[in-house]
Amino acid sequence: MTYLAQTQAPSNWTLSSLASPAAPSNFPFLPIFVGIHVAIYLFEEYLRYRQRGSKSSSANPTQQRWLFMVNFSTIRELINMLPFLVIFCSGVFPRIWDLTDRSWLRSDATRGAAFIVGWLLASVAFSLPFQAYETYAICPEGKEKPALLGFFAERGIAFVATSAICVVTVMIGVQLISSGGPHLWLYAWLAVSAIILAGYLLLPLIHAKMCCEFYGLENAELKHQIENLAQNQNFPLGDIRTLHEPGQGCGVYFYGCGSKRLVIYQEGRIQDKLDDSEIGKIVATVAHALGHWNHSHNQQTLCFELLHVFVLFLLFGIANGGKDIIARSFGFAQPEESSFVSAMLFWLVYSPVEVLIWVAKRLMLRRFETEADQFVVGLGRGNGLRGALSEQMQKSGKDPDPDWMYSAYHYSHPALAERLRMLPGHPHAAEQEQEEVKVPLLSK
Ligand SMILES: [Zn+2]
Repeated sequence: MTYLAQTQAPSNWTLSSLASPAAPSNFPFLPIFVGIHVAIYLFEEYLRYRQRGSKSSSANPTQQRWLFMVNFSTIRELINMLPFLVIFCSGVFPRIWDLTDRSWLRSDATRGAAFIVGWLLASVAFSLPFQAYETYAICPEGKEKPALLGFFAERGIAFVATSAICVVTVMIGVQLISSGGPHLWLYAWLAVSAIILAGYLLLPLIHAKMCCEFYGLENAELKHQIENLAQNQNFPLGDIRTLHEPGQGCGVYFYGCGSKRLVIYQEGRIQDKLDDSEIGKIVATVAHALGHWNHSHNQQTLCFELLHVFVLFLLFGIANGGKDIIARSFGFAQPEESSFVSAMLFWLVYSPVEVLIWVAKRLMLRRFETEADQFVVGLGRGNGLRGALSEQMQKSGKDPDPDWMYSAYHYSHPALAERLRMLPGHPHAAEQEQEEVKVPLLSK
């Protein structure tokens, strides 16, 4: 926003004052908001066009199913776009807020909570037919379809749970915004950062205690190879556990501060006796997880999240000074009376930034996957990884080979076929991989 540069710092400076003194009172936030969303929609439609092109030449039934899915998405997104345009181009949006002006909804917070629940209810009613069609009409062959009653019960529970979380968030958020003062954005950032840090440290432990039934690793040869691998890489291995995860191919994760627990999960228990090829696949999958550890990917993802919420709250602090201008652009007459409306409009105006941040995060996570795969190849275990990926391609319900640009935009992990293509396939690879090669450790 160019007017930000013209602002003179007042004597009692606050972040929100950046947006207020020299801000043009008729800045067209609404047309820009609608324009950016239409541009994002058109870009996503272009990606669907590319994805369609990558599938249409194949007669393979699986590829044809993915082609049908992308056509279905085109229709669904087009139908979703229509109410968006009607609500924001016809000036009806402030009138929807006015519907909550009832005597029994006295405070700003209760009006905000009622608005959110109504909005969620409309979204569910709109999306339910698409979800039902997706579940029953285009369900992959062999996949069990849920009973109709169970389907609606599941959606109903999800709606009630989401509404409860939103109501509590709105009630607390509106109180904080109303009484938080000019440095609220900073306190909010610190509080959310503390929650993210606590989640990073504690969630795996809580999840393991409450949701997981671990088994020991019985296969002596596999255990020996994993312990050797961890020792060679100075990985602080505490213990190894296995986990039965229905419908999952083999995967590995680790958790713990200091000494770490390594968890191997897959459908069914790991057999006591496995041939060399099976052991090679599991060890390569463990090596991939060690690659993430070696490159400090978890820590980098955590830093990204902290930066993400910092950008969010910093922009919220800046926008707070220009909240009346944003509200006027969206057709609200007396916006200063409602903290909920200010926060909601900020979120709408900010949402394109969120799209950019999510694209940046996906690209970062995809680079991490490639680095972890290269780490496995550096250890001489590329053949095992190739085998493990090929096996996952059979079991995975996801499109194994989408268009690269469609995949980069939508998926946080490269598709399995992309990962296989990125592995070095030169003729000497097999000889290289006979002997384990120690990769130099990066500093933590
Ligand atoms: Zn990975």
